[in-house]
Amino acid sequence: MRVVVSEQQLGKTGEPTLNDVSEAVVAVFGTDYGMHSPTWITRFTDVTRQAASYREGRVLLAGDSAHIHSPIGGQGLGIGVQDAVNLGWKLAQVVKGTSPESLLDTYQAERHPVAARVLRNTMAQTALIPTTDRVEALRDTMSELPSVAEPRKRIAGMMSGLDIHYDLGEGHPLLGRRVPDLDLATEDGQVRVFTLLHDARPVLLNLGGPSAFDVTPWADRIQLINAKYADVGELPVLGEVTAPTAVLIRPDGHVAWTGELTAPALPAALTTWFGPPAS
Ligand SMILES: Cc1cc2nc3c(=O)[nH]c(=O)nc-3n(C[C@H](O)[C@H](O)[C@H](O)COP(=O)(O)OP(=O)(O)OC[C@H]3O[C@@H](n4cnc5c(N)ncnc54)[C@H](O)[C@@H]3O)c2cc1C
Repeated sequence: MRVVVSEQQLGKTGEPTLNDVSEAVVAVFGTDYGMHSPTWITRFTDVTRQAASYREGRVLLAGDSAHIHSPIGGQGLGIGVQDAVNLGWKLAQVVKGTSPESLLDTYQAERHPVAARVLRNTMAQTALIPTTDRVEALRDTMSELPSVAEPRKRIAGMMSGLDIHYDLGEGHPLLGRRVPDLDLATEDGQVRVFTLLHDARPVLLNLGGPSAFDVTPWADRIQLINAKYADVGELPVLGEVTAPTAVLIRPDGHVAWTGELTAPALPAALTTWFGPPAS
């Protein structure tokens, strides 16, 4: 059983007790139904705030230190972990001297808008909670929307975070998005894309057959995988997408570049994201 009760006064401090919950339930139902042995009691609010800057010199913010909001919709932990995964590899490269400090600026550029949007959608959801005639009418109206495919996909993409799209410029629909977990056939057998990311290293995925691209100058950082795929299928939010010939995947699973392995933009993208070629 889980019970959520509202307190009339904001600002209580200290740990809430079973007695506090019991009194609140009795106030509504006249009984606490004999509740006992709680496994977890906590107090939270819908306070909604975001740090203006995620970085000040050597101090970087991620997770709830960067953004807090109502827990409604269960999005806080997910975006906090994504912050850390977005930042971790960039920080490692800057610390190791493979990339310039400016790489860290992409952390703020990519992650700040994501949390700002979650703050907005959680504020919108909390507006639907109060039990008044008008809010109930709004709640009924809103709950009709997911019965229609398009709003359902849009809302599901937003709540799950699968619609996150970093602005990495114009190009293939996958650019800046999380790479799909495709089934691949490689010379070492069947493998899924996400398995290739377990080493937290960038992956250059060649889906276009034999290629003369020489990855040697980046081979200390990047895995080049030659593979065939069965079908991209229908992706969340995007729908049906044709797979690009080659995909450069960052350690956080987002697509940094797509195109032909012969394109001059590939060495440029490798340098931008993973540092210059080794001499
Ligand atoms: C009731 C409730 C339900 C939730 N449900 C969900 C859900 O279903 N799904 C979801 O995704 N998210 C949910 N969240 C949000 C999620 O819990 C948070 O977003 C997430 O825990 C934040 O993780 P964090 O590591 O950034 O911060 P925290 O979990 O707050 O971790 C920070 C840690 O730092 C410690 N600390 C603080 N100050 C110091 C100090 N000076 N020195 C050393 N240590 C310190 C703290 O004790 C704490 O352990 C919920 C939140 C609440 C309140």
